[in-house]
Amino acid sequence: MIKVYGRREIEGIRASCKLTAEALQYIGTLIKPGISTLELDRELESFIRDNGGRPAFKGIAGDAPYPFPASGCFSIDEVVVHGIPSKRRLADGEIIGVDVGVEIDGWYGDAARTFMVGDVSFEKRRLAQTAKDAFFKGIARAKPGGRLSDISHNVQKMAEGRGFSVVRSLVGHGIGRQLHEDPQVPNFGEPGLGSKLRIGMALAIEPMINIGTHEIRVMEDGWTIVTADGKPSAHYENTIVILDKGPEILTMSEDELCEAGL
Ligand code: MG
Repeated sequence: MIKVYGRREIEGIRASCKLTAEALQYIGTLIKPGISTLELDRELESFIRDNGGRPAFKGIAGDAPYPFPASGCFSIDEVVVHGIPSKRRLADGEIIGVDVGVEIDGWYGDAARTFMVGDVSFEKRRLAQTAKDAFFKGIARAKPGGRLSDISHNVQKMAEGRGFSVVRSLVGHGIGRQLHEDPQVPNFGEPGLGSKLRIGMALAIEPMINIGTHEIRVMEDGWTIVTADGKPSAHYENTIVILDKGPEILTMSEDELCEAGL
């Protein structure tokens, strides 16, 4: 069942989303060649807890035989999502997707950014930019009265129009009282299908865009998802809420909002 949230409930979601945005912004300032993803995860966890939140990814169940062990997902180059932090150090020229979930008072926020590590190739920068652009293209259709797949279709059109592929087997989702709620929000498909979009729906929209094939596989650790062809992938995600005039993005920092002219 898809939940529709009222004004006061949206304020709850807004608070956890605000901290999600601030945590991502903080992690972005630390990313440079030489730092390990384990160090980044420790900083992330402290930042979230020091600011009154709980890292929502830590301990959640998936298909792996053990719960997710970290506060954030750190996904380098060919890793699509769900990368587990380790002692591995970032190297110049890599891209890293950082996915963060925060819970405050039983309300959830979820967002991801793909950051550049040092000097990054044109192709990878263009890939990361496209994941972001596809998100905005998608939410342009997140208006009351539209259909869920209107968002999906626009994401796919943008990504494939630039010669990239969209991951099919991982999708965005409803969010609010839980990290993952109905509905599923694919990043591909024909428009005009699925549930009607209504005021008060909270959704995590998250294009995962690949340079090569859209096929993915799961690594031996049961969590890490990589591209089947080993080529780079980028991820961009925000939690949004649908209001009468259209979507409001809840997980962008003030700097990002200014930069995007929002
Ligand atoms: Mg998500």
